[in-house]
Parts: sequence; C-alpha cells; structure tokens
Amino acid sequence: MKSTILLIEDNEQNCYLMTFLLESYKFSVVVANDGLTGIELAEQIKPDLILLDIQLPSMDGYDVAKSLRGIESLQMVPIVAVTSYAMVGDREKCLAAGCNGYIEKPINPETFVKEILPFLPAATSPESAI
Ligand code: MN
Repeated sequence: MKSTILLIEDNEQNCYLMTFLLESYKFSVVVANDGLTGIELAEQIKPDLILLDIQLPSMDGYDVAKSLRGIESLQMVPIVAVTSYAMVGDREKCLAAGCNGYIEKPINPETFVKEILPFLPAATSPESAI
C-alpha cells in the first residue's frame, strides 16, 4: 500500500516542488494550504506522515502541531516541521509543539525525501526509496 503524506504548506511553489519529489518516490501526497484544513484532512485520511510548514496564515505551525497532538487518533503520526525560520531555539520550539523532526527551507531537492524517510514507520516506506 502506498504511504500517504499530508503536506500542510501555503506556498504554491513549495507545494509543487515537494509534491513532485514525494510522488517521484511513489508517495501519495495530500496538500492543505492552511492549518485548519490540514487538521481536518489529517483526521479524515490518517496520513503516514505530516509535513508541516511553520509559517502559515492565521494559525502557525506550532499551533497546528499542538492541535494535531491533541487528537487521539493522530498522536502516533510523525510530524516533520519544514521551516525557513533559522533562529536559535526554533528546533526546540518545533519539538516542544509535538513535531518529531525539523527540515530547513529552502529544501534541497536531492536530499529532501531521504531526510524525511527516517521519520516514516519502516513498514510504510516505499520499496523504491530503500
Ligand atoms: Mn509558509
């Protein structure tokens, strides 16, 4: 079965690039352009992993992560923050909000998928990515 990744990201170009890279590795990708939509979709589709932009309109990624962690059925879903914030302490802030890891923007197209693979439960990693 294909692994499904929920991408919560408001920037169209980033969505396009990350979706392209993930689909090249045979992931199914579902995109939400804001936090509330992302939370609703997460409850509906129960993704294998959530990629979460931190700088989002109206509800930032920290609050989205905290909300996701408050939903019982989603507590075990890995959340990887994707953020351009380069300030000291942001990584800790992401982890404190419930994220499992952190990837910095701009993403590197050559290593992006490899960076998120360790956060996926082994059973759901696509064979082509091993
Ligand atoms: Mn953003």
